[in-house]
Amino acid sequence: MVDVVVVGAGPCGLAAAIAARRAGMSAVVFDRGCIVNGLSSYPTYMTFFSTAERLSIGGVPFIVATEKPTRRDALAYYRGVADLYDIDVRQFETVEALRAVRVDPKPGQAEPKRGARWLVRSQTRGGGVHETAAHAVVIATGYFGRPNRLGVPGESLPHVRHGYVEGHSAWREPVVVVGGANSAVDAALDMYRAGAKVTIVHNGEALGANVKPWVRPDIEARIREGAIAARFQTRVVAIETDTVVVEGPEGTSRIPATQVYTMTGFLPEIGLLEQIGVPIEGETGIPRHDPLTMATPAAGIYLAGVIASGNEANRIFIENGRDHGDAIVAHVLR
Ligand SMILES: Cc1cc2nc3c(=O)[nH]c(=O)nc-3n(C[C@H](O)[C@H](O)[C@H](O)COP(=O)(O)OP(=O)(O)OC[C@H]3O[C@@H](n4cnc5c(N)ncnc54)[C@H](O)[C@@H]3O)c2cc1C
Repeated sequence: MVDVVVVGAGPCGLAAAIAARRAGMSAVVFDRGCIVNGLSSYPTYMTFFSTAERLSIGGVPFIVATEKPTRRDALAYYRGVADLYDIDVRQFETVEALRAVRVDPKPGQAEPKRGARWLVRSQTRGGGVHETAAHAVVIATGYFGRPNRLGVPGESLPHVRHGYVEGHSAWREPVVVVGGANSAVDAALDMYRAGAKVTIVHNGEALGANVKPWVRPDIEARIREGAIAARFQTRVVAIETDTVVVEGPEGTSRIPATQVYTMTGFLPEIGLLEQIGVPIEGETGIPRHDPLTMATPAAGIYLAGVIASGNEANRIFIENGRDHGDAIVAHVLR
């Protein structure tokens, strides 16, 4: 029996567990991967667009010697903060189901400080099944497990990837990057610098408006000089073993590609919420909740982090999702 179970050890889930600990509550965090699993799968050499101060959690200063932290800085920081607060993180243990329940204390057992309202069923990588009783459950499952798929034939071929790691293996290879936002631009530039022949395919008229202002001049210059090819107002209709079939203003054509990166974003992982009947708003995809307390209509179930953002998944990120835990804990204590 714990006061708070947090599902997801991303930055916002960890911040929620820390808020609970600071308020004197017990907390357990489950993650189907390692701690800050999503960040560990970022491109290896990426630099955050946020400054370190805006990524910090639990009031612990995040100090780096450069303007913006790298992925590696952040991984070390979040590990350190979890150690500092002695957060119980059950890594590689997936939460499979939640069940509303009232657990009565066994004879002779003290009444739990706060009555249990949920049984959380989790499974380890080795197949072990655990059940944890909790007064409150924070769903902080993020979005990395639900890529925004193109829905075209060939998308599951082994040379098609939704995430980008680094450019070395793209040297001299024809590569297609699908998308026009930051992740696509970063991947295209990185592979171009590693010696790849890169084509960006984007259904918009131009690169996204949110492309980082310090990166935009670089990518625009590379496209202008033809070092990186760009096909705008063009959509992928199929992926074949060594070409990508696209439809654009000039009709249908095939672009050679031995590697394809679909950098088309993610959608929040709402499976557990659907399972327990939390309504998902039709148009926006936002799980119903009170943004002041992060409480859902299911008593004792809260949202933290990007899961609350709906289909427009970039509306909430670490900077503005890291405070959800404080709002949740204030509500739990009330
Ligand atoms: C390349 C890149 C750069 C970015 N740069 C920035 C930046 O500079 N600043 C910024 O603020 N944001 C940035 N973001 C966005 C940021 O990564 C996300 O907003 C952030 O990770 C959201 O945190 P979270 O805790 O809500 O969810 P996540 O980090 O997605 O964590 C969710 C966790 O839940 C786990 N999980 C899911 N389902 C289950 C389950 N059933 N059981 C157990 N565990 C489960 C997952 O394994 C995961 O570890 C960037 C994103 C990308 C891709």
